Amino acid sequence: MEIAANPNWFANNPLARLNNEKDNEAFIRDRLADADSLMIPLWRGDPLVIGGKDAGFLSAAARREFPQSATTVFLGLKDNRAYFGIDASATGQTPEAAAFSDIGQYMPLREAASVVSREDLSIIGHARWLIEWRRTHRFCSACGHETALELGGAKSQCPNCEAVHFPRSNPVAIVLATHDDACLLGRGPGWPPGFLSALAGFIEAGETPEEAARREIFEEAGVTLTDVRYQFSQPWPFPASMMMGFIADATGRDLNLDTNEIEEACWVAKSDIRLLLAKDENAPEGIFVPPRFTIARQLLEVWAR
Ligand SMILES: [Zn+2]
Repeated sequence: MEIAANPNWFANNPLARLNNEKDNEAFIRDRLADADSLMIPLWRGDPLVIGGKDAGFLSAAARREFPQSATTVFLGLKDNRAYFGIDASATGQTPEAAAFSDIGQYMPLREAASVVSREDLSIIGHARWLIEWRRTHRFCSACGHETALELGGAKSQCPNCEAVHFPRSNPVAIVLATHDDACLLGRGPGWPPGFLSALAGFIEAGETPEEAARREIFEEAGVTLTDVRYQFSQPWPFPASMMMGFIADATGRDLNLDTNEIEEACWVAKSDIRLLLAKDENAPEGIFVPPRFTIARQLLEVWAR
């Protein structure tokens, strides 16, 4: 059976993760010593980008330019070549001062998402996920002891109480609510006027994604959904959200906004969405659709087709 392609950026990571081999420390050590292996450095989660467009993969020999304590994670294998990520944060107080900033630029990931290849972006997203998890979850949540990374960085274990910890994926339901030939877009406080997107919220404990989708749209916009249809998902490394995309039918267009969550929301006609997606000169002014690397944009593309 052929699996439908996922249209989302950060998805479709080409690396084989080798979960059966990477618990072998010698395997990781040998791959780090292999001159063919590649390593992407990230400064506080932002990847090295060379020439304004290429992911800054270095030879794994570059490992010696980083402190021994720099978090190093194994990302997987492609064409028998291993890929690693390394935390460059400790090599400089600013991205301009960090290691290898003389050959490229540590670019904010949202900017890098628009320039590096989609394949490289999915690898960088994985690296950021693990490195940021390590940076913020260094200590055991059960006893407070410092933990040790295992599985090439995909797991940590506490040497004191033996608790095992895995990187979190925080599930989010993101919903394009529709009513006849219009869809509901909005923006939270802090986003510039007109920068509208599908509404989203974290899935809570004991809740299905579909239940979260209904609850969020009702809480934020006062809109009741009937049919809620799952479309696709996106790993979103800002820092660790698993976006689950839905298109849903609403019972009506009356809005009752929770102004703590939503500053502006409106129904936009499908004909206008098509013009906006096509950057047509007749597109309505003052509305900006999300960039291509967002799942909100992909939901709009699917619905407008
Ligand atoms: Zn512990």
